[in-house]
Amino acid sequence: MNISEHINQLRKELHQHNYNYYVLDTPTISDYDFDMLLKELQELEAKHPEFYDANSPTLRVGGEVTKNFNTVKHRYRMYSLDNSYSKEDLLDWEKRIHKLLDTDDVQYTCELKYDGASINITYENGQLVRAVTRGDGFEGDEVTTNIKTIKSVPLQLQGDYPASFDIRGEIMLPLAGFQKMNEERVANGEDPYMNPRNTASGSLKLQDSAETAKRPLECYLYSLKSDNLPFTTQAEGLEKARAYGFKVPKHSKLVGSIDDILEYVAYWDVERSNLPYEIDGVVIKVNNLAQQEELGYTAKAPRWAMAYKFKAERVSTVLKSISYQVGRTGAITPVANLEPVLLAGTTVKRASLHNADQIAKLDVRVGDTVYVEKGGEIIPKIVDVATEKRIEGSEPTQYITHCPECETELVRTEGDAKHYCPNEYECAPQVIGKIQHYISRKALDIEGLGGETVALLYKEGLITTYADLYDLTEAQIIPLERMAEKSAQNLIQGVAASKKVAFEKVLFGLGIRYVGETVAKKLAKHYKNIDALMDATQEDLENVEEIGVKIAESVRAFFDEERNVAIINKLRSAGIQFETEEKELASNVLEGKTFLFTGKLTQFTRDAAKEMVEQNGGKTISAVSSKLNYLVVGEKAGSKLKKAEALGTVTILTETEFLELL
Ligand code: AMP
Ligand code: ZN
Repeated sequence: MNISEHINQLRKELHQHNYNYYVLDTPTISDYDFDMLLKELQELEAKHPEFYDANSPTLRVGGEVTKNFNTVKHRYRMYSLDNSYSKEDLLDWEKRIHKLLDTDDVQYTCELKYDGASINITYENGQLVRAVTRGDGFEGDEVTTNIKTIKSVPLQLQGDYPASFDIRGEIMLPLAGFQKMNEERVANGEDPYMNPRNTASGSLKLQDSAETAKRPLECYLYSLKSDNLPFTTQAEGLEKARAYGFKVPKHSKLVGSIDDILEYVAYWDVERSNLPYEIDGVVIKVNNLAQQEELGYTAKAPRWAMAYKFKAERVSTVLKSISYQVGRTGAITPVANLEPVLLAGTTVKRASLHNADQIAKLDVRVGDTVYVEKGGEIIPKIVDVATEKRIEGSEPTQYITHCPECETELVRTEGDAKHYCPNEYECAPQVIGKIQHYISRKALDIEGLGGETVALLYKEGLITTYADLYDLTEAQIIPLERMAEKSAQNLIQGVAASKKVAFEKVLFGLGIRYVGETVAKKLAKHYKNIDALMDATQEDLENVEEIGVKIAESVRAFFDEERNVAIINKLRSAGIQFETEEKELASNVLEGKTFLFTGKLTQFTRDAAKEMVEQNGGKTISAVSSKLNYLVVGEKAGSKLKKAEALGTVTILTETEFLELL
């Protein structure tokens, strides 16, 4: 196989694996093997820029930066949808359709109305050429590079696709991914995002496509547009789109009567709470495309389709008081305390008010009757105030000016939605929060010590920083509430064990603002030890891959603070890992050699084999190529063995021979 064929082969394989994983949800190789294939392709492409392909699977990771998004005119206008809210609305619509078509013989496809950001993607000869946002319906922004990073969007189609067409869909951020993103943001000291829809649409307009690539976005497709489509109904169209490799959720239903439509609506109004993503209604479409054409469009929307919007679950209740919580980073969050009320199956007592601007915007006051809604967020939110029910003489809410915990005056920096308490070393929730973060699972992972015990130890004056944990003695702990000899021993042991935790986790545990897990890993890998990091200038830091100005400033500020330096020194004398551990190899007999394992291994597992190779200085790769030195064959080896034999440059080993090599 020549280089160009090899590259194409890898691309084909990777497209298929992507499809299996992200569209079918049934991967057929391990993540590791996938990464190795991808890496192999990346290396080949880097060496052979002459074989560039705008739709290579390597582009999924993003990297291209767009300063200004081009405005592009849609080939087919992107209409809006008419909305309906009741059975009567739907009955009227059906009547209109029967009249216009002069027949009662109409079928409908019912689909879910995905609540995300709409997108139009153009394919030519099976290749993705362009993706454009809806914009005003006539023209939108070209966001092709960002869309290409969404793994369920096919870059290369399969089957019998039309030569040229547009496809429409919705870019979605499923709830689990959204929550995970928010947990990470909060852990990094950033404000959580408000809801999945806005976050999805914001993700499309990020300038750095590598950032978009990191977000767990999905694309669900629902409509093809072309001058000659190879099908005659909407239902067939969905089926075909699926066959071309698009992700088309399976919840659509072909029905023949208004009763079926109402049944579908009623079913999803309840069932939507079990979907992994948000929908805001259903869309009903006349199934037959000839009938659609006959019905045509109004100035705004197709006559052949109708959205049925679910009512957001909303209840009214009384706002009893507003309290202010202080987070680990000092961020103040106002929380509404409500007269308990039942909403979407749970009793709600508290709701989020987000920040001072939100309170001012709603003009919400204690004593008001307020409307509470539950969206994709975990905590419900106040969406409106029933001003007509306002009690006489109520005063606008005055946002607090001082910290409710330590009375320090709050600060608010420009561009920040939140107020902060700047007293980070003495304000109790901040001090406790920092220690709780330090002991958390992803940081120092201290067993035998929980968040409440941290608060207790602080209140008893036994610790004021996480470095103090290493001074604790059993004698100090045993007398405390709910403590005994055994639990005290566990605590001390847990603390001692944390001295073995890797540097990158320690760095995350320090709780430097904006230094989350990933950034901590990057910094640990780059600087190798704490001294190098502490010495790094702002400029040095900014030069590290993926470290921006904001993070660099925060890191610098942290180490410029004497109190932090004192804590670091204390941790250092306690024996905490402040260096990246270089893996010690068992030997380097395999140095510079590459290995691939194929067939059914009987003497060791694949993972163990990889480990052995790496432990002895070798590397495993995932495909037979001219770079491969050794192919280790188990039972029933197949195509890889043939390929290797054909190449003639690969040494073929049995499992036993491999072990002997070591
Ligand atoms: P609206 O924005 O309320 O006018 O609703 C129209 C939008 O609904 C379209 O632009 C699509 O982005 C979105 N939508 C979501 N799911 C569907 C679907 N299954 N069929 C058509 N449009 C949909
Ligand atoms: Zn405070």
